[in-house]
Amino acid sequence: MREKNIHPVFEQVVQKERKEKFLQQKAHTLWLTGLSGSGKTTLGIAIEQELLKKGFLTQILDGDNIRSGINNNLKFTRKARTENIRRISEVTKLFLDCGIITINCFISPNEKIRSLAKDIIGRENFIEIHVNASLETCEKRDVKGLYKKARLGLISNFTGISSPFEPPKNPEITVNTGELTVENSVKQVLDYVLPKIKYI
Ligand code: ADP
Repeated sequence: MREKNIHPVFEQVVQKERKEKFLQQKAHTLWLTGLSGSGKTTLGIAIEQELLKKGFLTQILDGDNIRSGINNNLKFTRKARTENIRRISEVTKLFLDCGIITINCFISPNEKIRSLAKDIIGRENFIEIHVNASLETCEKRDVKGLYKKARLGLISNFTGISSPFEPPKNPEITVNTGELTVENSVKQVLDYVLPKIKYI
């Protein structure tokens, strides 16, 4: 609900189209969803490097970074996860309005949460990428040692162990990181994304 004494100036701000022209790119959100350890951050960083080489300006928004800053007061309950995604989506929108391509690395474990993100960001800007690796693979990787802790009951609401992960129903891309190299995963994403972000 909008506060009565707030007067947004959306119309007076330089429009997204002019900024996209300035940057010679079309702003989109690459939304990477998947289990912890599935490869969202690894892939996000590698995608950013490739895009930068090709002249695209991007911004990575990553779960752990966001949770240590703007969202450091949020836990992992269903309600807090929803608020986490709502704030992230609003921040994403600011980047998009600036013509910047965002790479969002968030577990975002269910349709409801991803749908909220799509509604805020705009479905036309949203490229849903399922970073897909089995729970077994992610647990074997255990990059941050979190699965071990979750199995010991030291972390509550841990996705895949004590909290569900609903795979997206119709993602634009599914990257099987359990089978592909990082390089081939990046290639798969870029083959789809490049035509969409090119300025024509
Ligand atoms: P997340 O951000 O989803 O929690 P991370 O990127 O932190 O996951 O960890 C993923 C791990 O999987 C890394 O150690 C990475 O090297 C490894 N990995 C193996 N194959 C791939 C791939 N194709 N894409 C991304 N990561 C991969």
